[in-house]
Amino acid sequence: MPVQCSSCREKRAVLKRPKTGHSLCKECFFWAFEEEVHQTIKAAELFKPGESVGIAASGGKDSTVLAHVMKLLNERYNYGLDLMLISVDEGITGYRDDSLETVKRNQQQYELPLKIVSYEELYGWTMDAIVKQVGLKNNCTFCGVFRRQALDRGAIMLKVDKICTGHNADDVAETVLMNVLRGDIARLRRCTAISTTSEGDGVVPRCKPLKYAYEKEIVLYAYFKKLDYFSTECIYSPNAYRGHARTFLKDLESIRSSSIIDIIHSGENLSVRDGVKMPVQGTCSRCGYISSQALCKSCVLLEGLNRGLPKLGIGKHHRLHDKLLSQQPLTEKEERKLKSVDF
Ligand code: SF4
Ligand code: ZN
Repeated sequence: MPVQCSSCREKRAVLKRPKTGHSLCKECFFWAFEEEVHQTIKAAELFKPGESVGIAASGGKDSTVLAHVMKLLNERYNYGLDLMLISVDEGITGYRDDSLETVKRNQQQYELPLKIVSYEELYGWTMDAIVKQVGLKNNCTFCGVFRRQALDRGAIMLKVDKICTGHNADDVAETVLMNVLRGDIARLRRCTAISTTSEGDGVVPRCKPLKYAYEKEIVLYAYFKKLDYFSTECIYSPNAYRGHARTFLKDLESIRSSSIIDIIHSGENLSVRDGVKMPVQGTCSRCGYISSQALCKSCVLLEGLNRGLPKLGIGKHHRLHDKLLSQQPLTEKEERKLKSVDF
């Protein structure tokens, strides 16, 4: 027997909401999903009227749903925001070139301006070239560090006040788990924040309107709305460590569906004891980007690439940084260490 929608009690339910277990028709699900994002935005006061907001768009399901919902809510509730799309082209043949085509279609569909910034123009390296040099083990470290800066640079070029990203509840819970497992207190404290203020020049404030949206519901929303998104995985994935956290989280979710939100709430409520030393934010002496060291991570990784020492900036070679950057010669053993690549 067909199940009736538990909200309108008129139409036939087409899905069971992963977040609440309610059986809903399409329209009631859309409304519930959109309203929850609106409530998240309102409760955290993410935007102010008149602001220009860059939506980080990759062509994937999260950022496509984000762009769709942001445009819709901006009109429905008169947020008064000037929206635009910012994409990062990492230079990954067979993946990013295809997904950028999706973003370009989204640009037409949503009638929003689009800015694409590429690793090649910013750093002189594509991810294809980086993988050739560093192999497939640490590639995501380069990619993640470069992407963060690239988005800021794109946002500054577009003169936006804020960037919003498509991070969903599953992403945040995964990051909480990863930071707990790594013992990274500084990141653990920051990763659950729904928005960040500018940490210095060249850093644009960010926010996550989908922070409480479950990945499963984002997929359902994109599917029933027939949104145009790109669903292929990066050819250089998996990021092994995140992959393990993700599998663990999915296992937990299958036993207890509230695990995702519970982990986020745990992360939000953790506090750091007084007196625990936290890294002090300064600025990079080379590019001016925020950094807790003399050089930012991006500059150190780039230095390693340009010198043919791909392991510089990865793992436990920090003590060598000063030596290298002040142009002191390395011993043969040190050179060997920084050159070796684990494919
Ligand atoms: Fe970059 Fe790694 Fe993501 Fe691919 S999987 S886009 S290499 S961070
Ligand atoms: Zn730098």
